[in-house]
Amino acid sequence: LNEIKNKQITVLGLGITGLGIVRFLLSHGITPKVVDSRVNPPGIDWLKEYAPALITHFGDLDNAALCSSNMIIVSPGLSLKIPAIALAISNDVEVIGDVELFARINTKPVVAVTGSNGKSTVVTLAYEVLKEAGYKVALGGNIGTAVLDLLDDKFDVYVLELSSFQLDTTKSLKPISATVLNVSEDHLDRYDSYQAYIDSKRSIYNCAELIVVNADDSQTHPIERSTTPKISFGAQQGDFYLAQYNNETHFMLKGDAFLPVSTLAVVGKHNYLNALAVMALLSPFEVSKKQYKNALGQFNGLAHRCQFVAELNGVKYFNDSKATNVGATIAAIDSLASDDENLIVIAGGDAKGADLNALKPYIEQHVKALICFGKDASDLAVITNKSYLTNNMEEAVALAKVLSSAGNIVLLAPACASIDMYNNYMQRGDDFVQCVLADQI
Ligand code: ADP
Repeated sequence: LNEIKNKQITVLGLGITGLGIVRFLLSHGITPKVVDSRVNPPGIDWLKEYAPALITHFGDLDNAALCSSNMIIVSPGLSLKIPAIALAISNDVEVIGDVELFARINTKPVVAVTGSNGKSTVVTLAYEVLKEAGYKVALGGNIGTAVLDLLDDKFDVYVLELSSFQLDTTKSLKPISATVLNVSEDHLDRYDSYQAYIDSKRSIYNCAELIVVNADDSQTHPIERSTTPKISFGAQQGDFYLAQYNNETHFMLKGDAFLPVSTLAVVGKHNYLNALAVMALLSPFEVSKKQYKNALGQFNGLAHRCQFVAELNGVKYFNDSKATNVGATIAAIDSLASDDENLIVIAGGDAKGADLNALKPYIEQHVKALICFGKDASDLAVITNKSYLTNNMEEAVALAKVLSSAGNIVLLAPACASIDMYNNYMQRGDDFVQCVLADQI
Protein backbone atom coordinates (compact mmCIF):
# COMPACT_ATOMS: atom_id res chain seq x y z
CA LEU A 1 0.00 0.00 0.00
CA ASN A 2 2.91 2.32 0.64
CA GLU A 3 3.42 2.22 -3.09
CA ILE A 4 0.16 4.10 -3.67
CA LYS A 5 -0.02 6.28 -0.55
CA ASN A 6 1.50 9.27 -2.27
CA LYS A 7 -0.33 8.87 -5.56
CA GLN A 8 -3.35 10.70 -6.92
CA ILE A 9 -5.90 7.90 -6.99
CA THR A 10 -9.21 8.04 -8.83
CA VAL A 11 -11.90 5.47 -8.11
CA LEU A 12 -13.90 5.20 -11.32
CA GLY A 13 -17.40 3.72 -11.06
CA LEU A 14 -19.41 3.62 -7.86
CA GLY A 15 -21.76 0.74 -6.92
CA ILE A 16 -20.80 -2.27 -4.77
CA THR A 17 -17.23 -2.62 -6.10
CA GLY A 18 -16.50 1.12 -6.23
CA LEU A 19 -17.75 1.71 -2.71
CA GLY A 20 -15.71 -1.27 -1.50
CA ILE A 21 -12.61 0.36 -3.01
CA VAL A 22 -13.39 3.79 -1.51
CA ARG A 23 -14.00 2.32 1.95
CA PHE A 24 -10.80 0.31 1.75
CA LEU A 25 -8.66 3.28 0.69
CA LEU A 26 -10.15 5.58 3.32
CA SER A 27 -9.53 3.01 6.06
CA HIS A 28 -5.85 3.01 5.02
CA GLY A 29 -5.52 6.78 5.06
CA ILE A 30 -5.71 7.20 1.29
CA THR A 31 -8.10 9.84 -0.04
CA PRO A 32 -9.25 9.09 -3.58
CA LYS A 33 -11.21 11.19 -6.02
CA VAL A 34 -14.48 9.47 -6.96
CA VAL A 35 -15.81 9.57 -10.52
CA ASP A 36 -18.87 8.04 -12.16
CA SER A 37 -20.48 8.71 -15.53
CA ARG A 38 -23.92 8.70 -13.91
CA VAL A 39 -25.13 11.92 -12.31
CA ASN A 40 -26.73 9.96 -9.48
CA PRO A 41 -24.71 6.76 -9.14
CA PRO A 42 -25.69 4.06 -6.64
CA GLY A 43 -23.73 4.58 -3.43
CA ILE A 44 -23.84 8.38 -3.59
CA ASP A 45 -25.84 8.53 -0.35
CA TRP A 46 -23.15 6.58 1.51
CA LEU A 47 -20.51 8.98 0.21
CA LYS A 48 -22.50 12.04 1.25
CA GLU A 49 -22.98 10.65 4.74
CA TYR A 50 -19.58 9.08 5.50
CA ALA A 51 -17.10 10.87 3.24
CA PRO A 52 -18.57 14.26 2.34
CA ALA A 53 -15.14 15.84 1.92
CA LEU A 54 -14.08 13.61 -0.99
CA ILE A 55 -13.62 15.28 -4.37
CA THR A 56 -16.17 13.81 -6.76
CA HIS A 57 -17.19 14.13 -10.39
CA PHE A 58 -20.52 12.67 -11.48
CA GLY A 59 -21.50 12.92 -15.14
CA ASP A 60 -19.69 13.09 -18.48
CA LEU A 61 -16.31 11.30 -18.12
CA ASP A 62 -14.67 13.56 -20.71
CA ASN A 63 -14.75 16.35 -18.12
CA ALA A 64 -13.45 14.22 -15.26
CA ALA A 65 -9.75 15.06 -15.77
CA LEU A 66 -8.84 11.38 -15.61
CA CYS A 67 -5.41 12.05 -17.14
CA SER A 68 -4.35 14.05 -14.10
CA SER A 69 -4.46 11.01 -11.79
CA ASN A 70 -1.51 8.68 -11.26
CA MET A 71 -3.71 5.64 -10.90
CA ILE A 72 -7.33 4.82 -11.73
CA ILE A 73 -9.02 1.96 -9.92
CA VAL A 74 -11.85 1.12 -12.27
CA SER A 75 -15.04 -0.88 -11.68
CA PRO A 76 -15.50 -3.97 -13.87
CA GLY A 77 -18.72 -2.46 -15.22
CA LEU A 78 -16.74 0.05 -17.27
CA SER A 79 -15.03 -0.86 -20.52
CA LEU A 80 -11.40 0.20 -20.91
CA LYS A 81 -12.36 1.26 -24.42
CA ILE A 82 -14.47 4.18 -23.17
CA PRO A 83 -12.65 7.14 -24.81
CA ALA A 84 -11.87 9.01 -21.58
CA ILE A 85 -10.36 5.83 -20.04
CA ALA A 86 -8.50 4.88 -23.22
CA LEU A 87 -7.05 8.41 -23.31
CA ALA A 88 -5.85 8.10 -19.70
CA ILE A 89 -4.21 4.73 -20.50
CA SER A 90 -2.42 6.24 -23.52
CA ASN A 91 -1.20 9.00 -21.21
CA ASP A 92 0.48 6.37 -19.00
CA VAL A 93 -2.03 6.55 -16.19
CA GLU A 94 -2.03 3.13 -14.51
CA VAL A 95 -5.53 1.61 -14.71
CA ILE A 96 -6.17 -1.36 -12.42
CA GLY A 97 -9.15 -3.13 -10.87
CA ASP A 98 -9.90 -3.90 -7.25
CA VAL A 99 -8.75 -7.51 -7.73
CA GLU A 100 -5.31 -6.23 -8.80
CA LEU A 101 -5.06 -4.11 -5.67
CA PHE A 102 -6.16 -7.12 -3.59
CA ALA A 103 -3.53 -9.31 -5.31
CA ARG A 104 -0.75 -6.82 -4.52
CA ILE A 105 -1.64 -6.86 -0.82
CA ASN A 106 -2.84 -10.41 -0.15
CA THR A 107 -0.38 -13.10 0.99
CA LYS A 108 -2.79 -16.04 1.41
CA PRO A 109 -3.63 -18.76 -1.16
CA VAL A 110 -6.29 -17.89 -3.70
CA VAL A 111 -8.45 -20.36 -5.64
CA ALA A 112 -9.52 -18.48 -8.77
CA VAL A 113 -12.45 -19.36 -11.03
CA THR A 114 -13.65 -17.92 -14.29
CA GLY A 115 -15.63 -19.25 -17.26
CA SER A 116 -18.78 -18.40 -19.14
CA ASN A 117 -21.05 -20.50 -16.90
CA GLY A 118 -20.98 -22.22 -13.54
CA LYS A 119 -18.62 -19.79 -11.79
CA SER A 120 -20.90 -18.97 -8.85
CA THR A 121 -21.88 -22.59 -8.38
CA VAL A 122 -18.25 -23.77 -8.41
CA VAL A 123 -16.91 -21.12 -6.04
CA THR A 124 -19.79 -21.61 -3.60
CA LEU A 125 -19.32 -25.36 -3.57
CA ALA A 126 -15.53 -24.97 -3.21
CA TYR A 127 -16.14 -22.61 -0.30
CA GLU A 128 -18.49 -25.10 1.38
CA VAL A 129 -16.03 -27.99 0.92
CA LEU A 130 -13.10 -26.01 2.35
CA LYS A 131 -15.24 -24.86 5.28
CA GLU A 132 -16.28 -28.45 5.98
CA ALA A 133 -12.59 -29.40 5.91
CA GLY A 134 -11.87 -26.87 8.64
CA TYR A 135 -10.29 -24.05 6.63
CA LYS A 136 -11.07 -20.43 7.44
CA VAL A 137 -12.19 -19.48 3.99
CA ALA A 138 -13.47 -16.30 2.36
CA LEU A 139 -15.67 -16.19 -0.74
CA GLY A 140 -16.01 -13.19 -3.01
CA GLY A 141 -15.05 -11.29 -6.15
CA ASN A 142 -17.75 -11.32 -8.78
CA ILE A 143 -20.07 -12.94 -6.23
CA GLY A 144 -21.27 -11.29 -3.03
CA THR A 145 -18.53 -9.36 -1.29
CA ALA A 146 -16.01 -7.19 -3.17
CA VAL A 147 -12.48 -8.58 -2.72
CA LEU A 148 -11.02 -5.66 -0.79
CA ASP A 149 -13.76 -5.99 1.82
CA LEU A 150 -12.59 -9.59 2.35
CA LEU A 151 -8.97 -8.86 3.22
CA ASP A 152 -8.48 -10.07 6.76
CA ASP A 153 -5.65 -11.91 8.52
CA LYS A 154 -8.10 -14.42 9.94
CA PHE A 155 -8.58 -16.20 6.59
CA ASP A 156 -6.39 -19.14 5.46
CA VAL A 157 -7.67 -19.13 1.87
CA TYR A 158 -9.72 -17.03 -0.55
CA VAL A 159 -12.06 -18.50 -3.17
CA LEU A 160 -12.64 -15.90 -5.87
CA GLU A 161 -15.07 -15.77 -8.76
CA LEU A 162 -13.57 -13.56 -11.47
CA SER A 163 -15.31 -12.18 -14.53
CA SER A 164 -13.41 -11.49 -17.73
CA PHE A 165 -13.85 -7.76 -17.02
CA GLN A 166 -12.10 -8.19 -13.66
CA LEU A 167 -9.32 -10.22 -15.28
CA ASP A 168 -8.74 -7.45 -17.84
CA THR A 169 -7.50 -5.17 -15.06
CA THR A 170 -5.59 -7.80 -13.02
CA LYS A 171 -2.03 -8.96 -13.59
CA SER A 172 -0.44 -9.76 -10.21
CA LEU A 173 -2.79 -12.51 -8.98
CA LYS A 174 -0.90 -15.77 -8.31
CA PRO A 175 -3.62 -18.34 -7.61
CA ILE A 176 -2.74 -21.65 -5.96
CA SER A 177 -5.17 -23.13 -8.51
CA ALA A 178 -7.11 -21.50 -11.33
CA THR A 179 -9.64 -22.57 -13.91
CA VAL A 180 -11.56 -21.43 -16.95
CA LEU A 181 -14.56 -23.72 -16.51
CA ASN A 182 -15.91 -23.46 -20.04
CA VAL A 183 -16.23 -20.87 -22.77
CA SER A 184 -19.29 -19.99 -24.81
CA GLU A 185 -20.33 -16.76 -26.47
CA ASP A 186 -21.05 -13.95 -24.05
CA HIS A 187 -20.35 -10.25 -23.63
CA LEU A 188 -19.60 -9.80 -27.32
CA ASP A 189 -20.89 -6.27 -26.89
CA ARG A 190 -17.76 -5.48 -24.81
CA TYR A 191 -15.03 -7.37 -26.71
CA ASP A 192 -13.65 -6.79 -30.21
CA SER A 193 -14.01 -10.49 -30.99
CA TYR A 194 -14.93 -13.83 -29.44
CA GLN A 195 -11.22 -14.66 -29.40
CA ALA A 196 -10.49 -11.53 -27.35
CA TYR A 197 -13.10 -12.70 -24.80
CA ILE A 198 -11.52 -16.19 -24.63
CA ASP A 199 -8.02 -14.73 -24.21
CA SER A 200 -9.26 -12.49 -21.43
CA LYS A 201 -10.58 -15.55 -19.55
CA ARG A 202 -7.35 -17.49 -20.09
CA SER A 203 -5.25 -14.72 -18.55
CA ILE A 204 -6.31 -16.22 -15.19
CA TYR A 205 -3.58 -18.86 -15.77
CA ASN A 206 -0.75 -16.34 -16.18
CA CYS A 207 0.79 -16.73 -12.72
CA ALA A 208 -1.16 -19.77 -11.46
CA GLU A 209 0.59 -22.59 -9.57
CA LEU A 210 -1.91 -25.19 -10.82
CA ILE A 211 -3.92 -24.89 -14.04
CA VAL A 212 -7.28 -26.70 -14.12
CA VAL A 213 -8.70 -27.12 -17.62
CA ASN A 214 -11.91 -28.57 -19.05
CA ALA A 215 -10.85 -31.63 -21.07
CA ASP A 216 -13.98 -31.26 -23.23
CA ASP A 217 -13.36 -27.62 -24.14
CA SER A 218 -10.01 -26.80 -25.75
CA GLN A 219 -10.81 -23.09 -25.45
CA THR A 220 -10.21 -23.41 -21.71
CA HIS A 221 -6.61 -24.56 -22.21
CA PRO A 222 -3.76 -22.06 -21.74
CA ILE A 223 -2.62 -20.29 -24.89
CA GLU A 224 1.03 -21.15 -24.52
CA ARG A 225 2.63 -24.38 -23.43
CA SER A 226 3.98 -23.85 -19.95
CA THR A 227 5.72 -25.89 -17.31
CA THR A 228 2.97 -25.07 -14.79
CA PRO A 229 1.33 -28.29 -13.50
CA LYS A 230 -1.99 -28.92 -15.19
CA ILE A 231 -4.95 -31.18 -14.40
CA SER A 232 -8.20 -31.62 -16.27
CA PHE A 233 -11.83 -32.50 -15.68
CA GLY A 234 -14.38 -33.68 -18.24
CA ALA A 235 -17.48 -35.75 -18.84
CA GLN A 236 -15.61 -38.84 -20.02
CA GLN A 237 -12.01 -37.75 -20.34
CA GLY A 238 -9.40 -36.00 -18.24
CA ASP A 239 -7.89 -36.65 -14.82
CA PHE A 240 -11.24 -36.16 -13.07
CA TYR A 241 -14.25 -37.52 -14.98
CA LEU A 242 -17.59 -39.33 -14.76
CA ALA A 243 -17.93 -43.11 -15.22
CA GLN A 244 -20.10 -46.06 -14.23
CA TYR A 245 -18.96 -48.04 -11.19
CA ASN A 246 -21.15 -50.62 -9.42
CA ASN A 247 -24.04 -49.61 -11.71
CA GLU A 248 -23.89 -46.00 -10.59
CA THR A 249 -22.30 -42.92 -12.15
CA HIS A 250 -19.33 -41.88 -10.05
CA PHE A 251 -16.93 -38.99 -9.78
CA MET A 252 -13.68 -40.65 -10.88
CA LEU A 253 -10.37 -39.27 -9.67
CA LYS A 254 -7.45 -40.51 -11.77
CA GLY A 255 -9.03 -43.94 -12.26
CA ASP A 256 -10.49 -44.36 -8.76
CA ALA A 257 -14.21 -44.19 -8.02
CA PHE A 258 -14.33 -41.38 -5.45
CA LEU A 259 -18.04 -40.86 -4.72
CA PRO A 260 -21.33 -41.56 -6.56
CA VAL A 261 -22.78 -38.47 -8.25
CA SER A 262 -25.91 -38.99 -6.15
CA THR A 263 -23.85 -37.65 -3.22
CA LEU A 264 -24.35 -34.20 -4.74
CA ALA A 265 -27.69 -32.72 -3.69
CA VAL A 266 -28.15 -30.83 -7.00
CA VAL A 267 -28.73 -32.64 -10.27
CA GLY A 268 -27.83 -32.07 -13.93
CA LYS A 269 -24.71 -33.07 -15.82
CA HIS A 270 -23.42 -29.51 -15.73
CA ASN A 271 -23.47 -29.67 -11.95
CA TYR A 272 -21.56 -32.97 -11.93
CA LEU A 273 -18.92 -31.23 -14.04
CA ASN A 274 -18.96 -28.30 -11.63
CA ALA A 275 -18.30 -30.72 -8.75
CA LEU A 276 -15.39 -32.31 -10.67
CA ALA A 277 -13.95 -28.84 -11.24
CA VAL A 278 -14.14 -28.20 -7.49
CA MET A 279 -12.29 -31.46 -6.75
CA ALA A 280 -9.57 -30.55 -9.25
CA LEU A 281 -9.24 -26.99 -7.94
CA LEU A 282 -9.00 -28.16 -4.34
CA SER A 283 -6.41 -30.85 -4.99
CA PRO A 284 -3.70 -28.71 -3.30
CA PHE A 285 -5.75 -28.83 -0.05
CA GLU A 286 -6.31 -31.57 2.52
CA VAL A 287 -9.94 -32.66 2.17
CA SER A 288 -11.13 -36.15 3.14
CA LYS A 289 -13.76 -38.20 1.33
CA LYS A 290 -16.07 -37.83 4.33
CA GLN A 291 -15.72 -34.05 4.26
CA TYR A 292 -16.52 -34.03 0.53
CA LYS A 293 -19.51 -36.28 1.14
CA ASN A 294 -20.90 -33.94 3.80
CA ALA A 295 -20.36 -30.75 1.78
CA LEU A 296 -21.72 -32.16 -1.51
CA GLY A 297 -24.75 -33.61 0.25
CA GLN A 298 -25.66 -30.31 1.86
CA PHE A 299 -25.25 -28.18 -1.27
CA ASN A 300 -28.72 -27.31 -2.53
CA GLY A 301 -27.58 -25.02 -5.33
CA LEU A 302 -28.02 -21.28 -5.64
CA ALA A 303 -31.20 -19.31 -6.14
CA HIS A 304 -32.21 -18.56 -9.76
CA ARG A 305 -30.08 -21.47 -11.09
CA CYS A 306 -32.39 -24.26 -12.28
CA GLN A 307 -34.32 -23.72 -9.06
CA PHE A 308 -37.51 -25.71 -8.57
CA VAL A 309 -40.41 -23.28 -8.00
CA ALA A 310 -43.61 -25.34 -7.82
CA GLU A 311 -45.65 -28.14 -9.32
CA LEU A 312 -49.07 -27.01 -10.52
CA ASN A 313 -51.51 -29.39 -12.22
CA GLY A 314 -48.71 -31.89 -12.82
CA VAL A 315 -46.47 -29.23 -14.47
CA LYS A 316 -43.14 -28.43 -12.81
CA TYR A 317 -41.81 -24.86 -12.95
CA PHE A 318 -38.06 -24.11 -12.82
CA ASN A 319 -36.42 -20.71 -12.48
CA ASP A 320 -33.05 -20.46 -14.27
CA SER A 321 -33.05 -16.68 -14.63
CA LYS A 322 -29.25 -16.75 -14.23
CA ALA A 323 -29.04 -18.42 -17.66
CA THR A 324 -27.99 -15.10 -19.21
CA ASN A 325 -26.26 -16.59 -22.25
CA VAL A 326 -26.84 -19.35 -24.79
CA GLY A 327 -24.44 -21.85 -23.16
CA ALA A 328 -26.27 -21.67 -19.83
CA THR A 329 -29.67 -22.15 -21.46
CA ILE A 330 -28.36 -25.21 -23.32
CA ALA A 331 -27.07 -26.66 -20.02
CA ALA A 332 -30.45 -26.06 -18.36
CA ILE A 333 -32.37 -27.67 -21.25
CA ASP A 334 -29.93 -30.61 -21.24
CA SER A 335 -30.35 -31.24 -17.54
CA LEU A 336 -34.19 -31.05 -17.47
CA ALA A 337 -35.10 -32.60 -20.82
CA SER A 338 -36.42 -36.13 -21.20
CA ASP A 339 -36.70 -38.04 -24.47
CA ASP A 340 -39.84 -36.31 -25.65
CA GLU A 341 -40.54 -32.62 -26.14
CA ASN A 342 -41.39 -32.05 -22.49
CA LEU A 343 -40.09 -28.52 -22.04
CA ILE A 344 -41.73 -25.13 -22.42
CA VAL A 345 -38.95 -22.58 -22.35
CA ILE A 346 -39.43 -18.88 -21.60
CA ALA A 347 -36.53 -16.82 -22.96
CA GLY A 348 -35.47 -13.42 -24.24
CA GLY A 349 -34.02 -10.12 -23.08
CA ASP A 350 -30.74 -8.54 -24.20
CA ALA A 351 -28.72 -11.11 -26.20
CA LYS A 352 -25.53 -9.01 -25.95
CA GLY A 353 -24.70 -9.66 -29.61
CA ALA A 354 -24.57 -13.47 -29.29
CA ASP A 355 -25.55 -15.89 -32.05
CA LEU A 356 -28.79 -17.42 -30.78
CA ASN A 357 -28.86 -20.09 -33.49
CA ALA A 358 -26.72 -22.39 -31.32
CA LEU A 359 -29.93 -23.07 -29.36
CA LYS A 360 -31.74 -24.44 -32.39
CA PRO A 361 -30.88 -28.18 -32.15
CA TYR A 362 -31.78 -28.26 -28.44
CA ILE A 363 -35.08 -26.47 -29.06
CA GLU A 364 -35.92 -28.82 -31.93
CA GLN A 365 -35.17 -31.93 -29.89
CA HIS A 366 -36.53 -31.16 -26.44
CA VAL A 367 -38.79 -28.14 -26.52
CA LYS A 368 -42.54 -28.12 -27.05
CA ALA A 369 -42.83 -24.33 -27.12
CA LEU A 370 -40.42 -21.39 -26.94
CA ILE A 371 -42.09 -18.32 -25.46
CA CYS A 372 -40.16 -15.09 -26.03
CA PHE A 373 -40.26 -11.55 -24.73
CA GLY A 374 -37.84 -8.65 -24.27
CA LYS A 375 -35.51 -6.64 -26.49
CA ASP A 376 -34.19 -9.46 -28.68
CA ALA A 377 -37.32 -11.64 -28.53
CA SER A 378 -37.89 -11.60 -32.28
CA ASP A 379 -34.27 -12.71 -33.00
CA LEU A 380 -34.91 -15.65 -30.73
CA ALA A 381 -38.37 -16.44 -32.07
CA VAL A 382 -37.13 -16.87 -35.67
CA ILE A 383 -34.92 -19.85 -34.80
CA THR A 384 -37.91 -22.23 -34.56
CA ASN A 385 -41.51 -22.51 -35.69
CA LYS A 386 -42.45 -23.56 -32.14
CA SER A 387 -42.07 -19.98 -30.89
CA TYR A 388 -44.53 -17.44 -29.51
CA LEU A 389 -43.93 -13.71 -29.00
CA THR A 390 -45.30 -12.05 -25.87
CA ASN A 391 -44.83 -8.63 -24.26
CA ASN A 392 -43.74 -9.48 -20.74
CA MET A 393 -43.29 -12.16 -18.09
CA GLU A 394 -46.92 -12.12 -17.04
CA GLU A 395 -48.10 -12.87 -20.58
CA ALA A 396 -45.33 -15.43 -21.09
CA VAL A 397 -46.18 -17.39 -17.94
CA ALA A 398 -49.93 -17.20 -18.66
CA LEU A 399 -49.29 -18.65 -22.13
CA ALA A 400 -46.99 -21.35 -20.67
CA LYS A 401 -49.83 -22.40 -18.37
CA VAL A 402 -52.19 -22.72 -21.35
CA LEU A 403 -49.70 -24.66 -23.51
CA SER A 404 -48.45 -27.08 -20.84
CA SER A 405 -49.91 -30.40 -19.82
CA ALA A 406 -49.20 -32.79 -16.93
CA GLY A 407 -45.65 -34.13 -17.08
CA ASN A 408 -44.28 -30.99 -18.81
CA ILE A 409 -41.69 -28.65 -17.36
CA VAL A 410 -41.88 -24.87 -17.72
CA LEU A 411 -38.36 -23.45 -17.62
CA LEU A 412 -37.34 -19.80 -17.45
CA ALA A 413 -33.87 -19.88 -19.08
CA PRO A 414 -33.62 -16.61 -21.00
CA ALA A 415 -30.24 -16.99 -22.84
CA CYS A 416 -30.12 -13.20 -22.48
CA ALA A 417 -29.34 -10.52 -19.92
CA SER A 418 -32.26 -8.98 -18.06
CA ILE A 419 -31.25 -5.31 -18.16
CA ASP A 420 -33.67 -4.33 -20.92
CA MET A 421 -36.62 -4.87 -18.54
CA TYR A 422 -35.25 -5.54 -15.04
CA ASN A 423 -32.60 -4.27 -12.63
CA ASN A 424 -30.95 -7.69 -12.60
CA TYR A 425 -31.51 -11.43 -13.12
CA MET A 426 -32.73 -11.84 -9.53
CA GLN A 427 -35.61 -9.43 -10.10
CA ARG A 428 -36.48 -11.26 -13.34
CA GLY A 429 -36.47 -14.61 -11.53
CA ASP A 430 -38.65 -13.20 -8.74
CA ASP A 431 -41.11 -11.87 -11.34
CA PHE A 432 -41.29 -15.37 -12.87
CA VAL A 433 -41.93 -16.98 -9.49
CA GLN A 434 -44.61 -14.41 -8.67
CA CYS A 435 -46.37 -14.95 -12.03
CA VAL A 436 -46.20 -18.73 -11.61
CA LEU A 437 -47.74 -18.58 -8.14
CA ALA A 438 -50.10 -15.65 -8.88
CA ASP A 439 -53.38 -17.52 -9.06
CA GLN A 440 -52.49 -19.95 -6.25
CA ILE A 441 -53.39 -17.71 -3.34
P1 ADP B 1 -21.98 -17.91 -13.49
O1 ADP B 1 -21.59 -17.41 -12.15
O2 ADP B 1 -20.80 -18.25 -14.36
O3 ADP B 1 -23.01 -17.08 -14.20
P2 ADP B 1 -23.76 -19.85 -12.21
O4 ADP B 1 -23.16 -20.90 -11.34
O5 ADP B 1 -24.43 -18.70 -11.56
O6 ADP B 1 -22.64 -19.35 -13.24
O7 ADP B 1 -24.78 -20.54 -13.22
C1 ADP B 1 -25.41 -19.75 -14.23
C2 ADP B 1 -26.19 -20.61 -15.16
O8 ADP B 1 -25.29 -21.34 -15.98
C3 ADP B 1 -27.03 -21.64 -14.45
O9 ADP B 1 -28.29 -21.13 -14.29
C4 ADP B 1 -27.02 -22.84 -15.39
O10 ADP B 1 -28.05 -22.71 -16.34
C5 ADP B 1 -25.73 -22.69 -16.15
N1 ADP B 1 -24.59 -23.52 -15.73
C6 ADP B 1 -24.13 -23.79 -14.49
N2 ADP B 1 -23.03 -24.57 -14.53
C7 ADP B 1 -22.77 -24.78 -15.84
C8 ADP B 1 -21.75 -25.50 -16.56
N3 ADP B 1 -20.77 -26.15 -15.93
N4 ADP B 1 -21.82 -25.50 -17.91
C9 ADP B 1 -22.79 -24.84 -18.57
N5 ADP B 1 -23.77 -24.16 -17.95
C10 ADP B 1 -23.77 -24.12 -16.61
